[in-house]
Amino acid sequence: MATSPSQSPDKPLGRLSVVGLGPGSEEMLTYKAVKAIQNATVIIGNSFYLDQISSLTEGKEIIKSSMGQEVNRARESVRRAETEHVVMISGGDPGIYGMAGIVLEVLLHAGSHIPFEVIPGVTAASAGASLLGSPLSGDFCVISLSDLLTPWEVIEKRLHAAFSMQVPVVLYNPKSRKRVEQFSLAMRIAGIYLAPETPVGIVQNASRLDEKVFVSTIAGVTEMTDMVDMHSVVFVGGNESTSWRMNGREGIITRRGYHTRYVY
Ligand code: SAH
Repeated sequence: MATSPSQSPDKPLGRLSVVGLGPGSEEMLTYKAVKAIQNATVIIGNSFYLDQISSLTEGKEIIKSSMGQEVNRARESVRRAETEHVVMISGGDPGIYGMAGIVLEVLLHAGSHIPFEVIPGVTAASAGASLLGSPLSGDFCVISLSDLLTPWEVIEKRLHAAFSMQVPVVLYNPKSRKRVEQFSLAMRIAGIYLAPETPVGIVQNASRLDEKVFVSTIAGVTEMTDMVDMHSVVFVGGNESTSWRMNGREGIITRRGYHTRYVY
């Protein structure tokens, strides 16, 4: 078999795994993710995510990369994976606003034949929904409000399309330090298609130390925009969503239609 110049014949081919870490706590890591991290020789990621798995990375080469350096990080992971078992870590699920896409783009562009896998993780929508009860029981939409890679006009069009379906909409990247207006704009668009009392849930730092859950409405959430930041995921209910309270907890439920067919 022919070998590339960077690959010595006696060294086994490396491999590249893009691994989802889930929302934060170690117990939300999948078993497959833990095994991939344990088997890796090189771990690449930003320090926020490396800290999440520090108990699993002893003795491994760690490459720290900063936020905004995703393309360089992806290229470095592909380069090192020629000879090492590289794990690129990504928060939540790597295929949902994560590193899987850019790593695959770089791999394809390089015409690489390195064995490559994506290991899924619990995404913020699932982690946050579990804390609210069951806001996403049927069809739902996911939209990111980050206009870093997608122009705002495109996001705005998608918000109209999503809210006009009157299904629950999960908003990722709802706000950052530099980007504060978009969340209020999104709520205004929601208000065009949905009643003001439609429930809105904000989950901040799901499965992390400072986890918080707030429930409001489309009309009321404008008072709560301080709770929305880059560590929050927002759930806007659809026309079948209602809020609930039980034992001092509150959340959102979207009935899927069982009540129309069964008595319970
Ligand atoms: N790949 C990640 C998403 C990355 S985009 C995933 O699948 O979850 C980053 C955005 O995800 C954040 O701005 C926030 O909206 C959301 N997010 C990620 N982890 C979160 C958590 N633990 N709690 C609340 N929101 C989270």
